[in-house]
Amino acid sequence: MSAPPLLPPGSTIGIIGGGQLGRMTALAAASLGYRCHIYCPEQDSPAAQVAAAATVGAYTDAERLESFGHNVDVVTFEFENIPADSVRLLAALVPVRPSWKVLEVAQDRIHEKRFFNDNGIATAPWRAVNSAAELARALDEIGRPAVLKTTRLGYDGKGQVKIDAATDPQAAWAAMAGNAENPQGVVEGFVDFLGEISVVGARGLDGGWAAFDPAWNVHTHHILDTTTVPAPVSPALLAEAEAIARRSADQLELVGLLAVEMFVTKDGRILANEMAPRPHNSGHWTMDACITDQFEQFVRAVCGLPLGSPRRHSDAVMKNLIGADIDQWPDILRDPEARLHLYGKAETRAGRKMGHVTRLTPQKP
Ligand code: AMP
Repeated sequence: MSAPPLLPPGSTIGIIGGGQLGRMTALAAASLGYRCHIYCPEQDSPAAQVAAAATVGAYTDAERLESFGHNVDVVTFEFENIPADSVRLLAALVPVRPSWKVLEVAQDRIHEKRFFNDNGIATAPWRAVNSAAELARALDEIGRPAVLKTTRLGYDGKGQVKIDAATDPQAAWAAMAGNAENPQGVVEGFVDFLGEISVVGARGLDGGWAAFDPAWNVHTHHILDTTTVPAPVSPALLAEAEAIARRSADQLELVGLLAVEMFVTKDGRILANEMAPRPHNSGHWTMDACITDQFEQFVRAVCGLPLGSPRRHSDAVMKNLIGADIDQWPDILRDPEARLHLYGKAETRAGRKMGHVTRLTPQKP
């Protein structure tokens, strides 16, 4: 069998999306001698600030995307909500990793849940709903409390409505649908969870797999607040979580990075919630606590390089700096145990991820 094609250092990685995930990917790529070219609609994006080149354009601008595709050796994503036609256009010019097959599943909560269930991975009970009447019927079947979510473009709790015993389905539907022309939703049973874990793993061009230790995530107002590793759950559950991530990546034939977020229920089950085929906020701790971090692993996978060791050398707690939290930066810099990462965002807004800080402690035996 011939070795898979490898993109040597000096090649240019095209990254769709200009946020902090692209920024940290570009920094890791630069450490390995690669150049990154960022494509996103925003001027002076966090990723463009640290990259060799940047194109500002809409994700639907065929002409700009084509010229971008001609100037890079591989295309990847830090933002997966790019239209199918744009991915098709790029894939005709240059290898796109991960492939459209992966993005298609990850862009849509219904595809995602169907994918999990088809591969023997449990989720909360769910129904696809396209109207208030369908929502009312679905609630009769799956019960309350429940959560109604938009199928596409929802993140950090955007487009989500909690449904309690007294919630009117009509009002819940209107709150989720907003002014969308053809709103599509998914309603799922509310999970009374013990906690949330995630697994970030890399899958190489040769099908090799390397996962980071599962992480324990606490969300505040639907936004990730802290990630703690090791996760305080049994080794058997950790192994199950890792197996779910690996099975998902294998079934998707993914080349790149996959993060799977899961609930740990009070009766000791794992239910998959969602996945992202890119670096993930719950993997930021790896930058300071592992031999190879998620961003370098992403670059290695996308360029066809051997995957690095994901071994953790320290225990870690990562805290997101959201909105005005960024004002704590002088104090954080004074803390000898803290590793500060800022994203270069000019404007501080409530709910906006401005940076993160990781605190390490020696690994407990
Ligand atoms: P998501 O956008 O699906 O990742 O949801 C964001 C956060 O909302 C999750 O990390 C959970 O903390 C919470 N959440 C989402 N879905 C559910 C659910 N079915 N049951 C309980 N909490 C949920």
